[in-house]
Amino acid sequence: MVDYFNGRIFLQPNEIPKDWVNILPDLPSSMTPLINPMDGKPAPPEMAFAIFPKECVMQEVSQEPRVPIPKMLREIFASTYRPSPLHRALRLEKELGIEGDDIKIFYKNESLSPTGSHKPNTAITQAYYAKKEGTKELVTETGAGQWGSGLAYGCNLFNLKCTVYMVRASFFQKPGRKILMRSFNADVHASPSKLTESGNSFLERDPEHPGSLGIAISEALEHSMRSDIIKYSLGSVVNFVLLHQTIIGQETKIQLAKVGIEEPDILIGCMGGGSNFAGLMIPFAIDKLNGKSPNMEIIGVEPRACPSVCKGDYRWDYGDSSMKGPIVKMHTLGHSFIPSPIHAGGLRYHGMAPIISILHNNRVINATMHHQTAVIGAGIQFAKAEGILPAPEAAHAVKEAIDQALIAKENNEKKVILFNLSGHGFFDLLAYKEYMTGNLKDYELPTQEIQKTLASEEMPVIDESQF
Ligand SMILES: *Cc1c(COP(=O)(O)O)cnc(C)c1O
Repeated sequence: MVDYFNGRIFLQPNEIPKDWVNILPDLPSSMTPLINPMDGKPAPPEMAFAIFPKECVMQEVSQEPRVPIPKMLREIFASTYRPSPLHRALRLEKELGIEGDDIKIFYKNESLSPTGSHKPNTAITQAYYAKKEGTKELVTETGAGQWGSGLAYGCNLFNLKCTVYMVRASFFQKPGRKILMRSFNADVHASPSKLTESGNSFLERDPEHPGSLGIAISEALEHSMRSDIIKYSLGSVVNFVLLHQTIIGQETKIQLAKVGIEEPDILIGCMGGGSNFAGLMIPFAIDKLNGKSPNMEIIGVEPRACPSVCKGDYRWDYGDSSMKGPIVKMHTLGHSFIPSPIHAGGLRYHGMAPIISILHNNRVINATMHHQTAVIGAGIQFAKAEGILPAPEAAHAVKEAIDQALIAKENNEKKVILFNLSGHGFFDLLAYKEYMTGNLKDYELPTQEIQKTLASEEMPVIDESQF
């Protein structure tokens, strides 16, 4: 019955899932609300409606186990890049000296989307809802540019204006993503910019300010508040983004079933804000929570330079550095944390999605971390074997999958190991160049230093008895 199609398992367009799966009703402890920083109380829906597309706000708090994917969206996915293939990494297995079928390594290939990562799964969706609600423009922030290019692509599909505040340092260092965004018609500004009050206030202090995600968020929020027909868009962390990504895990399940595998033994994804990892694992985690596969290991991988789950605290913290955005209960390194300049730009956020934080706190999932030299090394090993150069973020998952496969080989175990290849690395060649020339640096954050930062921060006081 097993037919691997030379290692790739394809689905037909009509096998694209009809719903997203919502983990909120199955969570082992209840979801924590987003808190308004002005009064320390749960943000009322009207407040969120002014910022995000309405449908997304409804999905953020929905208790329905399944949320239908609109037909038009499924048609767009079918005509562009979904379903994405699941690969058996046969050549990588061989490279690791693994023979036979006792150990199988699979990867879900999200690098085939128009902008080369999983981000369009939610970008197209948010643009669709915005258009439907009469919004004319979406505005967002971007670090390295993966999210910005995803949203620019989504907006262009629906003739929406797209404005992106891009962290100034990346704006000049990574022109590739900027050009891609502009190819999709987006307006891209270096942040801090002269276009907003918050941007100006930073520029006055330092005309050459390198910017940060926190500042870019403040600018995008301010820009979106100017008009009812402009909405703000987020690419990770919040519940509705994780929901949109569950299309990944559901397709994976169908694909595994086609080769006679009910559940993998080990599921792996890299974690920045948590959306691609959540998208892959949520459908499986629900099974685990319902007692179906109690021994399945679900592992999120962080950079050692930004280990919010592995080394941060689980507590209430601000989502942005300027303390204007909502307060969230999550694993965090503190809102004033400035990550070292590692190449995995998408993994340099101080916090983690509340859903991931709750699952980790309840030991449903595990977290681990790796240094970037080992990660990029694993990325090259993967590229040589499988022909795809992974994004530095995705290479974190590759590294962990290789480690797990070697452990299983050492112990003569039977294991199905599956990871999410969240994106390709064609815009991140500098990381690979530095690795090859021996110039890649590792950064480790000592636990003591993290605790010092966390202790020094003004901590929002939230009365949890009010909700
Ligand atoms: C943005 C990004 C990430 C990190 O974001 P998550 O929300 O944690 O998925 C990981 N990989 C790639 C390729 C990305 O573009």
